[in-house]
This record gives sequence, C-alpha cells and structure tokens, in this order.
Amino acid sequence: MTITNLTTMGESEEELRDKIRAQLERIGENIPDMCYQCGKCTSGCEAMKLLELEPHNIMAMVKTGFIEELINSEIIWTCVTCFKCKERCPQKVAPVEVLFLLKNQAVAQGKEIPVNLSNMFQNVLTQGVVQMPLETRTRAGEGVKREDLNLPELQLPKDPAKFQNVLMKLAMEEV
Ligand code: SF4
Ligand code: SF4
Repeated sequence: MTITNLTTMGESEEELRDKIRAQLERIGENIPDMCYQCGKCTSGCEAMKLLELEPHNIMAMVKTGFIEELINSEIIWTCVTCFKCKERCPQKVAPVEVLFLLKNQAVAQGKEIPVNLSNMFQNVLTQGVVQMPLETRTRAGEGVKREDLNLPELQLPKDPAKFQNVLMKLAMEEV
C-alpha cells in the first residue's frame, strides 16, 4: 500500500502527533516539523527500493497528523532499521526513530503485526537473540533444519524466565 493511497483516507490526529513530538523530544530527536522535504532520506532508503517506503512522506504525514493511517499500514513494518535516513538528514531529523514510535503505537493499539516480526520477537523472548529456530520453513513450505545450513547448535539463555521478565519489563516501559 502506498502513502498516496493512505492520505486519501483519514483526518488529522493532533493528539497522536503531539504525543509523537513529545516522545521524540524526550529521546533527544528533532521533530518532523524540522523536515523540509529534501528527499535525501528516501533516496538512500533500503526499503524504498523494494517496498516503496518513503521516509520523507512518512515525515510529511506525521507533521500533518496523519498518524492513524500510518499505524494501520503495513508500510511502517518494512523499515529495515539501517539508520541511513537518520545519517543523511541535513536537518538532523530521524525518520527511523519516528518509525519506531509508530510501530510502538501500533502495538499499543493492538494492531496486527507481520508474522515474521512476531516470530522474531518470540525468538528473542525464548532464545535471547534472533536465531534461526531448530527447524523452519522456506517460502515454498519446505522444512529446513539448522544443521542443513551448517548452523551451530542453538544457544539459549541460562535463565530463560529471568531473561523474559527483564525483557517484558523493558518492553512495557513508555518512552
Ligand atoms: S532527509 Fe531530513 S529534511 Fe530531507 S526529507 Fe528526509 S527527513 Fe526531511
Ligand atoms: S532506517 Fe528504515 S526508513 Fe531509514 S533508510 Fe533505513 S530502511 Fe529506510
């Protein structure tokens, strides 16, 4: 789904926009209002090439309060967190951080998140890091084991319950 489609759908959400502004200020990032739409972020965006993620458009939408449309969209989940947009921005705006906040907001509102991401989160919870599980499936549906790929034995946390408690506590903290 493209951003052009999204902008035709909703109304400006000032409350959510102000919340995102406040969260950015709290973590020391410039607000999207500083963005002057030069497009440098989008021209280097890894997800733009394949998935039509346009960080400059995300900034324009957040600036104008079209937040609900973004958190209902799959597009925010396509960011690969390479941080190039943040590095390239002449205004020191960080689209990647805005995308983190949009994703957090989507989760807080109980939106469905892409299954590969929830699997990754599950792996972090149970294994401590994103590792390939003992067995997985290819897109074609074939089962693949770690040993088929010459991957080493799965390393699990020494105390999984303690690890999960700490992680969940951190995940529930409001920025
Ligand atoms: S690089 Fe910065 S100023 Fe330029 S469009 Fe992207 S966020 Fe806006
Ligand atoms: S961090 Fe995300 S939005 Fe920024 S350039 Fe990389 S993929 Fe694009």
